[in-house]
Amino acid sequence: MLALQMEENPIRNNCLIPHSLIMTKAECDYCASSEHSYVLIGHLFGLKTCKTHRSAGIRDCRAYMHMQGFVKISDLTTIPIFQEFLAALSETFTVVRTSGVPQAGWKMDIRGLMRYRNSEWHIPAYIEGPEEFIKDVRIRSGLRTSMSADYIDTVIQTLNNGIYIKEWHDHEGMVDRDRSSVVEEDPHIKTVTLTDGKVARVWI
Ligand SMILES: [Zn+2]
Repeated sequence: MLALQMEENPIRNNCLIPHSLIMTKAECDYCASSEHSYVLIGHLFGLKTCKTHRSAGIRDCRAYMHMQGFVKISDLTTIPIFQEFLAALSETFTVVRTSGVPQAGWKMDIRGLMRYRNSEWHIPAYIEGPEEFIKDVRIRSGLRTSMSADYIDTVIQTLNNGIYIKEWHDHEGMVDRDRSSVVEEDPHIKTVTLTDGKVARVWI
């Protein structure tokens, strides 16, 4: 249904939802130009854009991540508040396993996504060795690092406020504009007041 609306409505074409890129046409998702590159959220998932639509692709991918509770680690590198966070997790660190036992030697997957799940923010982490393991680790309770509790609170508050809030508003603004054009009424339907004072919608 959504795909149908996208095809039928040219305004919707300016505002897209990321999708699997497996077996898709080699063209810009916005204008069908054959010149295109990827804006990725994860492995083979995102949007294809030409140079003109690259900013639209970034906006729509970030709006999607905002709605899904995802944050790309690589998007944090330009935000000052996260510098201590990234520095602390650039070396190996200790993770409190589900059993409650702390385990040293974990690393953050800097190409991965932070996720908001069960009311907590998690980082993607892994440990190498004979027992290689990948896991989403809770920031507040799962990490043992040099970061103070106050600083962790600030990090979480900043994540809760929405790293991609601007792009989400931009995306929603376009969707709203699209919706208002979709619900445009049939010009033959008019509102009339009947003799008993009731208001009715009639076909003229
Ligand atoms: Zn394009």
